[in-house]
Amino acid sequence: MIRLFTPDLYVKSFMDIDIQKLVKMNKKLIICDIDNTLVAHDMSLPSDKAKQFVENVLASGLQICLISNNHKERVETFAKALGIHRYSFAKKPIKWTYRKILKDYAMKAEDVVAIGDQLLTDVLGAKRMKIYAILTSPLVDRDLNSTKINRKIERRIYKRLENRGILKRGVFNE
Ligand SMILES: [Mg+2]
Repeated sequence: MIRLFTPDLYVKSFMDIDIQKLVKMNKKLIICDIDNTLVAHDMSLPSDKAKQFVENVLASGLQICLISNNHKERVETFAKALGIHRYSFAKKPIKWTYRKILKDYAMKAEDVVAIGDQLLTDVLGAKRMKIYAILTSPLVDRDLNSTKINRKIERRIYKRLENRGILKRGVFNE
């Protein structure tokens, strides 16, 4: 079970992701979380850094779309500002939206990279689909109310990952 909570890569922030490395790994599509991954949940629009990241991804030849458990209006406003496709109310870690994305983009799980800040939604959802999972540290300490319960459970999983020598919170791969 613990392997489903084990990211393939753990970085502090999306800004630390080596996009060229993903290209070399033959990845073709990034599916990226929004809240606390690209911006804080109460920031309705992308930051300059988030915009730059998306530009860099697209310039590298990779595609990128947004996957969020948040509601349609929040996700659409954010995605429109970036000019990229989005999947709202995704119900991560349920497989449904991931399957829809693979179908829409005509891709296999091995072509895809998922980026997100939560073990219980982003990492678990990706690993259940056998998608390469990049875990980031949450950008800010504040969370949506719906995320607060997840964070409590998440703390226990981080503890187990650490006890098994798999991953230590705050100790990043690159
Ligand atoms: Mg998030």
